[in-house]
Amino acid sequence: MKTVWIDAGHGGKDPGAVANGIQEKDIALKVSLGIKQRLEAVYEDVQVLLSRSTDVFLELRDRTSKANAAGADLLVSIHCNAGGGKGGFETFRYTKASQGSIKLQEALHKAIISKLGGIDRGQKAENLHMVRESKMPAVLTENLFVDVGANADQLKQASVIDAIIDGHVQGIASYLGLVKKVKEEKPVAQERDINVPSKWAETTWKEVTEKGYFDGKRPGATVTREELGAVVSRLLKKVES
Ligand SMILES: [Zn+2]
Repeated sequence: MKTVWIDAGHGGKDPGAVANGIQEKDIALKVSLGIKQRLEAVYEDVQVLLSRSTDVFLELRDRTSKANAAGADLLVSIHCNAGGGKGGFETFRYTKASQGSIKLQEALHKAIISKLGGIDRGQKAENLHMVRESKMPAVLTENLFVDVGANADQLKQASVIDAIIDGHVQGIASYLGLVKKVKEEKPVAQERDINVPSKWAETTWKEVTEKGYFDGKRPGATVTREELGAVVSRLLKKVES
């Protein structure tokens, strides 16, 4: 069982970046809950633990100490960007990142940008608390700019939030080598007309009907013990005569 730690940035009294009617903390929470739901629904042997599942404030050190105590296999911290410019998507690892963090960043970044499109601001390294203090491979994603009009419009679309969630899920799954659950396909019940003999039984049914053992009715119906008795009785009479 793999354990994934998803950290929704900000929360409660800390809204993160605010612009164009969007609060970063809300997008981060929505994406985080979506990742948990989809990853656990689609893949085998994975559980997703969350820094927060509601709009509450958490100190940065609480987030990383909980993730470290849980022994998570990886951590992804979800954020939106601000600072103007043309907007776009970027990811961060620690400046002295482990090989695991570098691989995780590569997998996540590629998967998310392929779903999201738009401006790729690159795979970056910075001395950020969340990626520095996490003992496991850790990456922080900056999912579009709330203060860039075009990006803000995107963040208001359910399909864009969906693409961000999907990108994270695929990136995490490919990094961990998760296997998709097998969908149980219920066999479709073959509806048959009990008044028509099956193809394979046509000749025999015709024969036993003509000889009077069966009355020729309802060839597809189940036989009761008494009906079988009647057939045996007819057979015996035939043999004895
Ligand atoms: Zn943030």
